[in-house]
Amino acid sequence: MSFAAQAVKESLMREIELKDEVGVEGLNLEPSIFHHLALGAEYQEQVHTLFERDHEPHEGFYLPCGFKSPHGVRFAFKWDRRSYIGIIYDGENYILTKRGKELFPIEFDKRPEYFKLSGSDGTPFKTVGGYTHGDIAGSVLNVAYSNECALKDKGLDCLFCNANATAARYAKKEGVGWKNPRLIDEALKSAREMDGVTHFVLTGGFIPERREVDYYLDVADAIADITGVKDFNGTAVIGAPLDLEIIDKYAESPFDTISINLEVWDPHYFEVINPGKSQQCGGRDHWIKALDYAAKKFGKGKVRTSFVTGIEPKPFTLEGVEYLASIGVISLTGGWNVGLGSALEGHRTPEPAWHWDMHNKVKDILKKHDYKYLDYFNVSAGATTVVSDLLAADEGLFPVQRTLSEKTAIAL
Ligand code: SF4
Repeated sequence: MSFAAQAVKESLMREIELKDEVGVEGLNLEPSIFHHLALGAEYQEQVHTLFERDHEPHEGFYLPCGFKSPHGVRFAFKWDRRSYIGIIYDGENYILTKRGKELFPIEFDKRPEYFKLSGSDGTPFKTVGGYTHGDIAGSVLNVAYSNECALKDKGLDCLFCNANATAARYAKKEGVGWKNPRLIDEALKSAREMDGVTHFVLTGGFIPERREVDYYLDVADAIADITGVKDFNGTAVIGAPLDLEIIDKYAESPFDTISINLEVWDPHYFEVINPGKSQQCGGRDHWIKALDYAAKKFGKGKVRTSFVTGIEPKPFTLEGVEYLASIGVISLTGGWNVGLGSALEGHRTPEPAWHWDMHNKVKDILKKHDYKYLDYFNVSAGATTVVSDLLAADEGLFPVQRTLSEKTAIAL
């Protein structure tokens, strides 16, 4: 590697580490600085289709979704006025700051073109799903068919989850509700054609009667009808079915990948943190059996689980990531972002250094079991994470804006 390439890689790694820090601490700023940004016109505004990720509520005014650093690292936006990392506007550019020192100018996410459109029933597409800008592999559309979770009625919500609180705070004002398969498929078609969506995720809270499978298969059939494509690189996010043979139906459907989210690994934590998943779906051992069954049906790297890292001790989660990688399952290990309105509101997630160590250890486990950046992207919930950035950097794949054209990946 040349001296110049080494310097670029070092800067890139500093930006990825900073992304970890922003993910934990959030961003300190006064929302009035966005009067100079055309949010909802040229730049993408937040729409709360499932979770609130900001650390402060913001009814009645827009905030951005994310931004990119000089080396093309995408950061998710989280507002938190207690943070030592912030954004200022200098009259011309938005600048990322840390402890009052200016770091670099940033570029906010452009608004996708399909956000201007609505479905045949008049529902604006921007309320259908979360669109995240990607890099090398494309962008992601993550649709929550239901923005509420039926576990609430039984008092069994997962303790970290704020889906129901988010719906109560924002859904009516933002026009977010239940989506029928036709609407989802029309939005996906436009997002693929106009805004480079290459991965589709279908998720949602629990619905009464656990009738997910019929709904998911309806969506998949409608996608094939509307878009004309059977291979839409879709991930179905489901709760572990009591009858594991239901997974066969997903494996035979056009969904390429499947996700069954454990959230924590240790059996005692599982019972306490996920009371609904524990009591309604056969318990933690059954969830692991479901992941194993799915890996045999879908194949290595086509199944994922998600962990909310930082709730349980690190060695527990890492034991789960290692075991699951050995049976063909990729773990997403996004750091625990303490959710406004969740039962754990007011708690703290571990410090950035804790999460940075976790991200690197997870990346090493995935590499040891021969999973690649693209495997990770194809089961991801959004377009980029710290772990996917680390995998891409290790594989020599990373777009470097301003030094090369926006879509060019360079070998570092
Ligand atoms: S199953 Fe748990 S994580 Fe999923 S929406 Fe319901 S409460 Fe939230």
